[in-house]
Parts: sequence; C-alpha cells; structure tokens
Amino acid sequence: MQIPASKNPRVVIIGGGFGGVTLSRKLTELKLQVILIDRHNYHTFQPLLYQVATSGLEPDSIAFPLRSIVDENHDYLFRMAEVEKINLEANSITTSIGEIDYDHLILATGTKTNFFGNEQIERNALPMKSVPQALDIRSLMLQNLEKATITDDVKEQQKLMRIVMSGAGPTGVELSGAFAEFKNGVLSRDYPDLNPDWMEIHLLDGADRILSAFSEKASIKAYKYLKELGVQIHLDQMVSDYENDIVSTKSGMQLETATFIWSAGVIGAHPSGFAEDMISEKGNRLKVDLFNKVQGTDNVYAVGDIAQMKTEDFPDGHPQVAQPAIQQGDNLAKNLIRMANGKDMKPFSYFDKGSMAIVGRNRAVADIGKFTLGGFLAWFAWLGVHLYFLVGVRNRIVVLLNWTYNYFNFDRAARLIIRPYSKKIEVPETVSELEE
Ligand SMILES: Cc1cc2nc3c(=O)[nH]c(=O)nc-3n(C[C@H](O)[C@H](O)[C@H](O)COP(=O)(O)OP(=O)(O)OC[C@H]3O[C@@H](n4cnc5c(N)ncnc54)[C@H](O)[C@@H]3O)c2cc1C
Repeated sequence: MQIPASKNPRVVIIGGGFGGVTLSRKLTELKLQVILIDRHNYHTFQPLLYQVATSGLEPDSIAFPLRSIVDENHDYLFRMAEVEKINLEANSITTSIGEIDYDHLILATGTKTNFFGNEQIERNALPMKSVPQALDIRSLMLQNLEKATITDDVKEQQKLMRIVMSGAGPTGVELSGAFAEFKNGVLSRDYPDLNPDWMEIHLLDGADRILSAFSEKASIKAYKYLKELGVQIHLDQMVSDYENDIVSTKSGMQLETATFIWSAGVIGAHPSGFAEDMISEKGNRLKVDLFNKVQGTDNVYAVGDIAQMKTEDFPDGHPQVAQPAIQQGDNLAKNLIRMANGKDMKPFSYFDKGSMAIVGRNRAVADIGKFTLGGFLAWFAWLGVHLYFLVGVRNRIVVLLNWTYNYFNFDRAARLIIRPYSKKIEVPETVSELEE
C-alpha cells in the first residue's frame, strides 16, 4: 500500500462518509499518522441522491473528493481500496491493494441495501445507496421514456412509464415526490407525444402509514402532500417478488412496471473478521460502548450507521441518519486527542436535532422536539439544513444555483442519459471491481 513508516501512532479510518470525514478533519491536529481508506475517492452526500436519480442535480455536486481532506502539513494519507477483512489478533487489515497495520482502527463503513434475503428482488430491482446507483435510476427512467415514444403498444407504453417504489421511509417519499414533479413539470414539455396520465408513480409500504419513524402528524401531512402531487400510495402492501416486470405483494396486488426501486431498508456493512458476539442480531451493526469502542477490543472503534450503541433512550442504537455519525465522529476525535494527552475519554451523548423529509416544491415535514412543521416553512428549513451540511463550498454554490433555477423554471435540468443502464452488462461501481 506504500504507506511510509512514521514515528507517530497510526490511526486507520475505513469509510469516508459522514462519520469518517468528520473524524479525518478533526484528527489532523494530533501527532498521529492518519490513513483514510474508502472504496470510492469521494464522499457521497446520500440525502441528495434522490435528486440525482430524478434529474434534479448532477452527481458531481453531491460528491466531494476525499483527497481534498488530505492535509499536506500533516502525517495524513488517503488510499482508495476495498477493505476485505479485519485481522483483530494481528492489528492489521486486508484490502484489495494490500495489508496494513494499525495502532487504532475506526470503522465508519455505514450500511448497504437490505433485500431481506429475497434474491429475485436483489437481482431485478434498483437500489439507491450510491452515486452510480442513482445514475442507473436516472438513465433507466429516461431510457424507458424514450422507448415509450417509439412503440404503439399502449400496454407496453404504460409499463415503460409506470414507476414503482417499495419503502415509504424518507427515501421513498422523497423519490416519489420528485418523480411526480418530473411528471407534472417536464413530461409534457419534453415528450409531447406521450400521454402524461400513463406516467404513474406508485409508492408501496408494508406498514399502515408512510414515514413510520416520524410522528403521526408528520406522516399524515406527507401523505396529503404526496396525494396532491398525484402519487398513488399503497399501505399494508409487503412486496414479495419482482420478476418479468411485475411487482407482486404478499396480499396479491400486482403492478406491471419496467422501473422498480427498492428503498425498503438497510443493513450494517462491515468487513469480515468480527466474532458473532460483536455483531448485533438486528441490523448487522457492530456493538460499541459509550466511547464507540467495539465490544471485546482495546483499539477498534465504530461510528455512525455501522455502530450500535445501546442507551436508555435508544435501546436498539441510534437512528441510522447523518447526525449520529457526525456527532460520534466528532466525539471520538476529541476522545483520541484526550487519550493522547493522558486525559480520560468522555462518553457519547446524542443531541437529537430532529427529522426532516421533503416531498416537493414548498412541501416538507419536520419533527423538531415536540413540534411538527409542514409546508413552506419545513421546506425552507430542509433546503437550509441540507445546504449547510453538504460537504464542499463549490457543491453548496452549484446546488443552490440549480435549486433556484429549477424552482423558477419548474425544470429538472439534468435529464441526460450519459451512461446508459443495462441489466445484463453490470457497470462496475469501483475501480477494483473494474479490474476484476
Ligand atoms: C438515499 C438516502 C437518503 C438519505 N437521506 C438522509 C437524510 O435526509 N437525512 C439524514 O440525516 N440521513 C439520511 N440518510 C442516511 C445517512 O446518509 C446515513 O445515516 C449516513 O450517511 C451515515 O454515515 P456513515 O459515516 O455512518 O456512513 P456512510 O455515509 O454510508 O459512509 C460509509 C463509507 O464507507 C465506505 N465503505 C463501506 N464499506 C467499505 C469497505 N469495505 N471498504 C472501503 N470503503 C468502504 C463507503 O464507500 C462510504 O463512503 C440517507 C441515506 C440514503 C441511502
């Protein structure tokens, strides 16, 4: 891996998401050698992936090069690699580009899509956890519209234009709202030869309400907003299959579609090497103590989505959203500095800033403490919060300009098929996959 020897203790951070980036930035002040490893050479701002998938934003504006964090004045390096195994006994990790020893190891590897063991759905549905996957959705939707213009078979046209999503959490709600806005604002302008009524947006969920992790008030408001936009919501519908372009649910509902998006859940994504009792039964997360130290280890930590820290308020661990990852990254960086200075570590305490979901133009919901906001106020707050937390000043400017342009023109300007999607030819997600 060509990592130079150092007189400083070595901290290896796996994952350049919210947790890993926060840690990397804060640790440069210490006398440590910091090595950040990620399978991509960029940080992904996952909350805005849905805008890439629905042609609202270019992918470059929600990704941030991880090498920009590298500080030439400090003992700091980045390596792009897939981490395959943690060798706890040997204090080393095995990656796609070689092995490396560590003094302290931090896992910030996040989650991957949970298909709940359904191989059929995994093979045929489109997940949305990464930039390449969001681009797949964008390309497929646009390719299907192009195909719909060159057939006179009405049933085929309807199948090509119908979009179905499973999972009515924030991702499903945000995606379906954005597709509905695409239909209402762009479709007739770009495709005057297609019947706009045939572009149906269906959102399915196994629960009896959408946004089930939010307050009931927020869930009712979001339901009303989606209905106003024309989204067809199907509750108590557990998807069981997607084969031959037909989505089937356990209760017998069937929808024919060429675009089926799976946003029904995530599961912890850690490299191998951890004993069974270090991993939570539910969610495949690494069990950590109040200092983010992985159970049964002395120098291995986990932060963010991958970490399960049980507390009185969060008996199953913190919610898998950006704030716990940022706050845990921050606290662990401070603790490592305290440790280096011979001071005691401080336990993590989560400050819940609330939850938000956007449904569309002037429509969003936010649970803040005991209060639920809706409509324009929540929408405006959502825009501000997402701009603030987006990594990179250039990205903030580009996104703000895009949003302003789209708002006044009812446009989604990035409706480009740059990298056509094909089910048969799997496009590699990473350089190591390409080399294989
Ligand atoms: C579509 C979508 C929308 C979301 N919307 C919101 C929202 O609106 N608000 C909110 O608060 N949260 C939202 N979230 C959740 C939020 O993005 C996560 O909680 C947050 O990203 C967790 O941060 P993390 O640092 O733990 O992991 P991540 O940000 O997921 O980062 C993990 C990193 O580890 C790398 N990695 C993983 N395994 C390996 C390996 N073996 N080798 C090398 N690198 C590896 C990955 O490439 C990635 O860069 C959303 C998530 C998704 C998927």
